[in-house]
Amino acid sequence: MAAVSAAREILRRLHEVMAARTGAEAKLGQVVRIVSELLSSEVASIYLLRDGMLELFATQGLAQSAVHVTRLSMGQGLVGTIAATREPLNLAEAKEHPDFAYRPETGEDDYHSFAGVPIVRREAAIGVLGVQHREPREYDEVEIEALQTVAMVLSELIHGAGLVDDAQAARARAASSGPMRLAGLKLVDGLGRGTAVFHQPRVIVEHTVSDDIEGERLRVYSAFTRMREQIDTMMGQAEFAGGGDHHEVLDTYKMFAYDEGWSRRINEAIDTGLTAEAAIERVQARTRARMRSIDDPYLRERLTDLDDLSNRLLRIVSGQLGTAAKSGLRGDTILIARNLGPAELLEYDKRYLKGVVLEEGSLTAHVIIVARAMGVPVLGRVHDLFAQVSDGDELIVDAGNGALLVRPQAAMIASYEAMRVVKARQAEKFAAVKDLPAISRDGRRIMVQMNAGLADDAQALDLTGADGIGLFRTEFQFLVSATLPRRERQQALYRTVLDAAGARPVVFRTVDIGGDKAVPYLQGDGEGEENPAMGWRALRLALGRAGLMKVQARALLEGAAGRTLNVMFPMVSEPWEFVEAKALVEGQRKLLARQGHALPETVRYGAMIEVPALIETLDTLLPLTDFVSVGTNDLTQFLFAADRANPRLADRYDWLSPAILRVLRRIVRAADAAGVPVTVCGEMGGRPLEALALLSLGVESLSITPAGVGPIKAMVRSADLASLREAMSGWLDAPGVNVRKALSRAAAEQGVELA
Ligand code: PEP
Ligand code: MG
Repeated sequence: MAAVSAAREILRRLHEVMAARTGAEAKLGQVVRIVSELLSSEVASIYLLRDGMLELFATQGLAQSAVHVTRLSMGQGLVGTIAATREPLNLAEAKEHPDFAYRPETGEDDYHSFAGVPIVRREAAIGVLGVQHREPREYDEVEIEALQTVAMVLSELIHGAGLVDDAQAARARAASSGPMRLAGLKLVDGLGRGTAVFHQPRVIVEHTVSDDIEGERLRVYSAFTRMREQIDTMMGQAEFAGGGDHHEVLDTYKMFAYDEGWSRRINEAIDTGLTAEAAIERVQARTRARMRSIDDPYLRERLTDLDDLSNRLLRIVSGQLGTAAKSGLRGDTILIARNLGPAELLEYDKRYLKGVVLEEGSLTAHVIIVARAMGVPVLGRVHDLFAQVSDGDELIVDAGNGALLVRPQAAMIASYEAMRVVKARQAEKFAAVKDLPAISRDGRRIMVQMNAGLADDAQALDLTGADGIGLFRTEFQFLVSATLPRRERQQALYRTVLDAAGARPVVFRTVDIGGDKAVPYLQGDGEGEENPAMGWRALRLALGRAGLMKVQARALLEGAAGRTLNVMFPMVSEPWEFVEAKALVEGQRKLLARQGHALPETVRYGAMIEVPALIETLDTLLPLTDFVSVGTNDLTQFLFAADRANPRLADRYDWLSPAILRVLRRIVRAADAAGVPVTVCGEMGGRPLEALALLSLGVESLSITPAGVGPIKAMVRSADLASLREAMSGWLDAPGVNVRKALSRAAAEQGVELA
């Protein structure tokens, strides 16, 4: 309790200083006097960052003539070391420390012991507070804690007075932390450079001292209650989703959220006179210090979880709940997140979003598909991301090489620029085939269409030279809206896309929401599902909400007036669902006709094949359809019973495994026999070797990510498909053939371009 009352006394006096109407420098002078008096130290000094140097700004005990004269660079002397490492130093004999630098002008010869703590703002050291004693002695924990509390208040004072600005702090942090390379998994290929922005912004504590202890205590109490409710809800959902890493993390969260020790420490900090925010941060700083000193990776992970939870508590208590998208991006940005939903990503301004880096993430999750559609490179599964990257850091995402360059040096930036030039040349090469048809060496014309979902995407048709839009994911418009998009808006979008496509075909897929594409305004549908990907989603939801489907049907019919309308239904599991969906659209067509509206010249109906059961009933389904399209993302997820959004399963199953290829061959054969055109529209078709496998199965139409159109066209034009078809048939008939290897070899022998 003595510690609490000492800290409280310091804060009470600091509060008075802060409230006084004196200038900032005079206040600093008062602060050093208070510190030296209460810690009974002969010297107390404040160094602040100015022009990249740590300058003595105020001192009690050292020569006053040294103020604004003594300057140390980052990393120089004890003060510079504290600033560079952002760690306190506590030394009985300062001169014995290897970094000690003697400064005669200060008159510090007489002092033996030294303790100092960094003054931090936005995770950067903007100064140092130090004390010195004549006697050689180590400072106890309570004293160091008191210094850290003072440093927190000083940070507020210094920022408020404009003595150090944020930009200066960011530069200093970059200079002190140094460059670093982190490894990750390529989720969307590409290169991007920008400033780190956290999707969940870290809270900047602006006010540190309060005299309303009860008020602050109440704020923390209710924040704890809210946080516990949130964790309980997440636990409830995770229980249904069943086990795994995610569950383990939540278990730890729950343990910490209810940990009496943690809330007690925060309460003690409030007792000393800190605001709720400052108290949480104070305790968090202790956790971080412990994190740094622990080697055991398991314990470190747990402390990282606690750190994460502290951030959550800070956001709740300060009411800063919005994501970075809400406040808007200001310049070229690399977005940092643990994970993201597709709708969350779509909220960001595409012009400034140059890359996304995730701690988790998996290849076929919808957010990745959205990122690919937006043309934003994504690097996933970057371990230690949050510990190593700070808000405002300069970053280069090199997804192709699975690398994130943090605070790159000039040489790294130069090599990035060089790489960009190479990519641009490659793009030129693809541009050269842009206006040429995708015809194989043996004369097969392959339709290389692209997937789209946003109005802007239609422009990519001309840029890439795609043969059409084989999959327009209409749900993207639903995902970006806060409310259900009205019919007029839907219709305008469909018309814009058709206008841009001109003579090229467009296939509109009716809404595929639910699963990992939840929209807030349809809550209630599928809420609390154990397995949302297999739940109330896509056509199931649409047929269950006939009103929604009718509105979309009318929007499509009106949007395509005078043209051909291709409508496709997602997640058809049994033929009757297709029949019912088609009847629903036909019903709207008749209604509009009666009302005298202009209508499409032709309406063609297609089904997506993504549920394995449907493959057993193709004989019933195919005669009813005008075309079919295989969604390999969902189909593989269901075939392998492997959640497409689960990062642990991301590389587990190969798209070129016999299970998938044989199923696809079956579909192609059935469709050919029925005379129904078949397209493959999953992510698989956008990868050159996988696409080559599809063509070798007899697929003649692909719909892929726009960035894949150039490379896939180049691949087609360099391949002899007849011989590969024969080879593929042999590989699939024989047991145990490694098709990936066999096909790669055959492709290499033929000189197929697999960029
Ligand atoms: C698929 O499942 O393969 C597909 C193309 O649809 P989506 O990725 O939108 O589910
Ligand atoms: Mg799908």
